Amino acid sequence: MQTPKQLGGIDFGLMDPETYRDISATKVITADTYDDDGYPIDMGLMDPRLGVIDPGLECRTCGQHSGSCPGHFGHIELAAPVIHVGFTTLIRRLLRATCRECGRLTLTEMEMEEYREELDRAEDLGKDPDTVLKAAVRQARKAGSCPHCAEPQADIKHEKPTTYYEVQNVLSGEYSEIIAEAMQPDEDDEDDEGMSPQALSDETGIPLDRINQILGGEFRPRDDGRRALEKALDVDLTEEDMNKLMPSDIRDWFEQIPDSDIEVLGIDAEGSRPEWMIMTVLPVPPVTARPSITLDNGQRSEDDLTHKLVDIIRINQRFMENREAGAPQLIIEDLWELLQYHVTTFVDNEISGTPPARHRSGRPLKTLSQRLKGKEGRFRGSLSGKRVNFSARTVISPDPTLSLNEVGVPDRVASEMTITINVTDRTLEEAKQYVANGPETHPGANYVKRPDGRRLKVTEKNCEELATKIDAGWEVNRHLIDGDIVIFNRQPSLHRMSIMAHEVVVMPYKTFRLNTTVCPPYNADFDGDEMNMHALQTEESRAEARVLMRVQEQILSPRFGENIIGAIQDHISGTYLLTHDNPHFTETQALDLLRATQVDELPEPDGEDETGPYWTGRTVFSLLLPDGLDLEFDSSAGDTVIIEDGHHLQGTIDEDAVGAFGGEIVDTIVKQYSETRARVFINEVAALAMRAIMHFGFSIGIDDESIPPVADEQVDEAIDNAYGRIDELIETYRAGDLESLPGRTVDETLEMKIMQTLGKARDSAGEIAEDHFADDNPAVVMARSGARGSMLNLTQMAGCVGQQAVRGERINRGYEDRTLAHYEPNDLSAEAHGFVENSYRGGLTPREFFFHAMGGREGLVDTAVRTSKSGYLQRRLINALSELEVQYDGTVRDTSDRVVQFEFGEDGTSPVKVSSSEDFEVDVEGITDRVLDAEFDNDSEKEAFLTPSESPTNLSEHTDTALSSEVESDD
Ligand SMILES: [Mg+2]
Ligand SMILES: [Zn+2]
Ligand SMILES: [Zn+2]
Repeated sequence: MQTPKQLGGIDFGLMDPETYRDISATKVITADTYDDDGYPIDMGLMDPRLGVIDPGLECRTCGQHSGSCPGHFGHIELAAPVIHVGFTTLIRRLLRATCRECGRLTLTEMEMEEYREELDRAEDLGKDPDTVLKAAVRQARKAGSCPHCAEPQADIKHEKPTTYYEVQNVLSGEYSEIIAEAMQPDEDDEDDEGMSPQALSDETGIPLDRINQILGGEFRPRDDGRRALEKALDVDLTEEDMNKLMPSDIRDWFEQIPDSDIEVLGIDAEGSRPEWMIMTVLPVPPVTARPSITLDNGQRSEDDLTHKLVDIIRINQRFMENREAGAPQLIIEDLWELLQYHVTTFVDNEISGTPPARHRSGRPLKTLSQRLKGKEGRFRGSLSGKRVNFSARTVISPDPTLSLNEVGVPDRVASEMTITINVTDRTLEEAKQYVANGPETHPGANYVKRPDGRRLKVTEKNCEELATKIDAGWEVNRHLIDGDIVIFNRQPSLHRMSIMAHEVVVMPYKTFRLNTTVCPPYNADFDGDEMNMHALQTEESRAEARVLMRVQEQILSPRFGENIIGAIQDHISGTYLLTHDNPHFTETQALDLLRATQVDELPEPDGEDETGPYWTGRTVFSLLLPDGLDLEFDSSAGDTVIIEDGHHLQGTIDEDAVGAFGGEIVDTIVKQYSETRARVFINEVAALAMRAIMHFGFSIGIDDESIPPVADEQVDEAIDNAYGRIDELIETYRAGDLESLPGRTVDETLEMKIMQTLGKARDSAGEIAEDHFADDNPAVVMARSGARGSMLNLTQMAGCVGQQAVRGERINRGYEDRTLAHYEPNDLSAEAHGFVENSYRGGLTPREFFFHAMGGREGLVDTAVRTSKSGYLQRRLINALSELEVQYDGTVRDTSDRVVQFEFGEDGTSPVKVSSSEDFEVDVEGITDRVLDAEFDNDSEKEAFLTPSESPTNLSEHTDTALSSEVESDD
């Protein structure tokens, strides 16, 4: 038995090839895996010293069987060194920053010291050391020759992924031809007589016989001579000489770099020597990391890593054979490149510019890097998050008959998901019944656990018999039943209310059902959204969920301190219809409205008309309000709502009263009454509103968005006026008389003025349209009450769609100087730059349609970009904040007990406990009044408490013994 160890720290670095050999259980030399009898071949890829996966076999390294043996690394001796793809950028940096001759960093000692200090400083300040390293490499690269050995330095070219060249400018092989050519007279210029060798000699200072030797190709001019010739003849006599650096060259180069120099580049020479980035030994992962699968037909299917290793060993062998046979250099280089390719793709098979290694089927192989990277990789897929038991996922659909605390769970989910009950004398009969029902009848059981720990599956066959055996001390995994608490979640989970606890209601069919009032916190709709459910497995978690996570506890959002659960959409249209004109209802009608609420008795009628006694809409609504509620606020419809002692006296109940996102009444009930009262209120408002909207009938059609021909003419006139004004603007601009606005160019000023004019035109079109809509127009009702849509939407449908914009400007892109081929170049008119004068109802012209599609597409792209960005931001935030925790002393600390905040949120205040009324940020008086009322039974006690009284200030009575003894000793 091993004892647990505490880790002091982890160092990351490169591994020494010697260490690879040390930890290796065996050298792997053959590409074959199993012999004809199906036994693993010695020194093959499945060598039993590398670990075992077949149940019968014993590991030859640790002696354990499959399951206990952790597996052991092997190694392959590479025939030639190859570059590790993971380090290509670092290799490039080192090649550029060090001397090709002596291996020293091409910086002076003083510069090195400077960078060392800067590196230390960056570390102290917690800055990214990479910026310092990059600067050091940049400076080292500038050195034309080595400051230590004076060797001229060549530039390094990196051809991805793993090829490096030294680039040097050398004398072109055709230097004599180039010079001779340049000395010829220019054919097009009669005055030009060319340059004689004598003249060239005079100009360059090179003796005439040397010039002749150069022209004859017998002498290669040195650097100085070359430069003089280039200057005199204005030619380039050099060509780039690309010298390929083989991995072995790079390895030799890196071996020379002194430890002290690479430290300047941020490499810890103790743990990582740069030459180790060029591999001479390849570790072979244990068999347990690449298990083979036996197919149904008895055939073995090997892991992708094994396939890759087979390739490497084959090429490695061919390389060695060819080299021993003295094969030509070209063949050796080809094989070397092939070996490099296989080792590269073994590490990472998704390198740009390199074709991925593929299976025979054409599927790219999943090699080392692919196992780790990305969403399904080891880190994000297997360690940070995993699939869990006792969870279910399906499509959601609405059910207004459920409470907002409930969730409808399909019966087939309820009988798959279980909750464990510990059988006691009190639960015995119940438990027996569940088991007797079996796994297929609904409130049944799937498993039982005997007191000795054996788990038995309940089947249709054994359930009756098993039920008789159940006794205290057993455990029964029963199906979910009505009233069980479960956790419900919709992704993306962007705030606390994305995961809430609901009570189960088992239902037929296959979808989860929820009350529509919980759509806002989940941001759910029913266009195919899916949600997850988790059945809680311990009594503690269920209790916690019920107290802390239940939907009704989440009515107030910690984001803005007001309710996020409340009436939405049709609920709001419903309450608007019920309360705006305060309609009359007969007794039957009133009771019908209230049928889905707990109210079963009507108050005294409000009056009598020709049909008999009547009740008004506001009276009906008042029945849902708690007694004693006093409120006054402005509704979104524009009137003032007055509620006194739970009676709704005046105003329209709409979004501002009962809506999600800060409906006053809901908000006040949660804060002044209780979550439970608020839950009842929201449920009943939703139910009442649904009855009300059904009572009146509510629908929209295309005719609801049409305006009379007179209005159409007015809209056309308004737009024509705007066009006229724009023409004037353009004329002034063309005449050069347009005055620019402060800080703007004339062009910008014109654009702004045109936009302004068109904006006004659209607004006035909207006003004209608005004037012609009746107050009971359903679209108007929805817009005014805040149920859905806006007057702008209506304007666009009935009046004029307006200016289309891309990047906040009129549409300017397209052809040269114009947006479409249909317009004259430089046409600045509204029409040519995406103003849509028609309404949606009237229909857009093809050109308008095209501009509209441009504007619309920008919107779609923006949304797509935003969601992916916010998703990534969320991931980073979660990772950064995951270890912060509020401790019992109220501080927020990280895992090493460092205080991040002394009080949560730096003020210790919960947004949901703070009054959201605009007049008082915190309703201090209201709170003290409520506290005092609750604390004292009568006014005289309260008075006594509130009247300040002088407290006795005799210190000696309060001085404790310790203090007094200290005082004495002072004497
Ligand atoms: Mg959706
Ligand atoms: Zn083993
Ligand atoms: Zn040097």
